Amino acid sequence: MAVIHEIRCSNCGAPINFNPGEMVATCQYCGFTCVIETGKAFTLEHSMILNEYDSTQVEELVRNWMRGGFLKPGDLAKSSKFFEKNLAYLPFWVVPVTATSEYKGVFERLVPPVVKEGKIEKKYNWLVLARKAVEFPTREYDVPLEGKIPYDFRKIEGFAKVLNSEMEGGEAVALAKQQIMSHHQFLAKQDVDKIIEMKDDLSTGDAVYLHAPIWFIAYEYKGERYSIILDGATGGVIKGDIPSTKFGLF
Ligand SMILES: [Zn+2]
Repeated sequence: MAVIHEIRCSNCGAPINFNPGEMVATCQYCGFTCVIETGKAFTLEHSMILNEYDSTQVEELVRNWMRGGFLKPGDLAKSSKFFEKNLAYLPFWVVPVTATSEYKGVFERLVPPVVKEGKIEKKYNWLVLARKAVEFPTREYDVPLEGKIPYDFRKIEGFAKVLNSEMEGGEAVALAKQQIMSHHQFLAKQDVDKIIEMKDDLSTGDAVYLHAPIWFIAYEYKGERYSIILDGATGGVIKGDIPSTKFGLF
């Protein structure tokens, strides 16, 4: 059994449970968000995105998704059985970053190879998942930020789980910078074969703490289990396992 710790909410006095490794916790009774180490109020912006679907609608969305796309077995929507549909509000940090990377590299596909220079200039709302052990395809999730509202615990469904952040803002900003620099390395390598020099200049704004509604769905098809991750705001499948179709060539 996991050890669960408890602090008192300094706003309403209710107990706030948290797991080892969590840094920022939200009171489920009043929505007060605090930094666990100090018990003090969290001072950055805390936002949320609303979930728009119930469990029945989610199943319908997934069955529709199962009906489309030629890679899926024809009877997938009809023959699949759902046995898990869980809504969780996952914690993210959204870090505004203006990033410029100047690079110099060698384009080796020409004979003789040439040295090329280039510049990448981008603005991001870079998304960092605030959990370490959750498997979530962050880069495939286009967070619907236009629907962002101030965090309101009354909008959280009773059956949903709200996960706390396992990192504070500074760590999220550092992680965002690191991920952006390696993303720019990747972009530069589309242009040159070997990078000789790379200079990154990143400036960051205030990170926003964000809870977003994500459905974790498990289904069974022909005796095998598969999972699907669905965006509770847009109803879109973020990532879904598809049983491999056997084409019967032999
Ligand atoms: Zn409270």
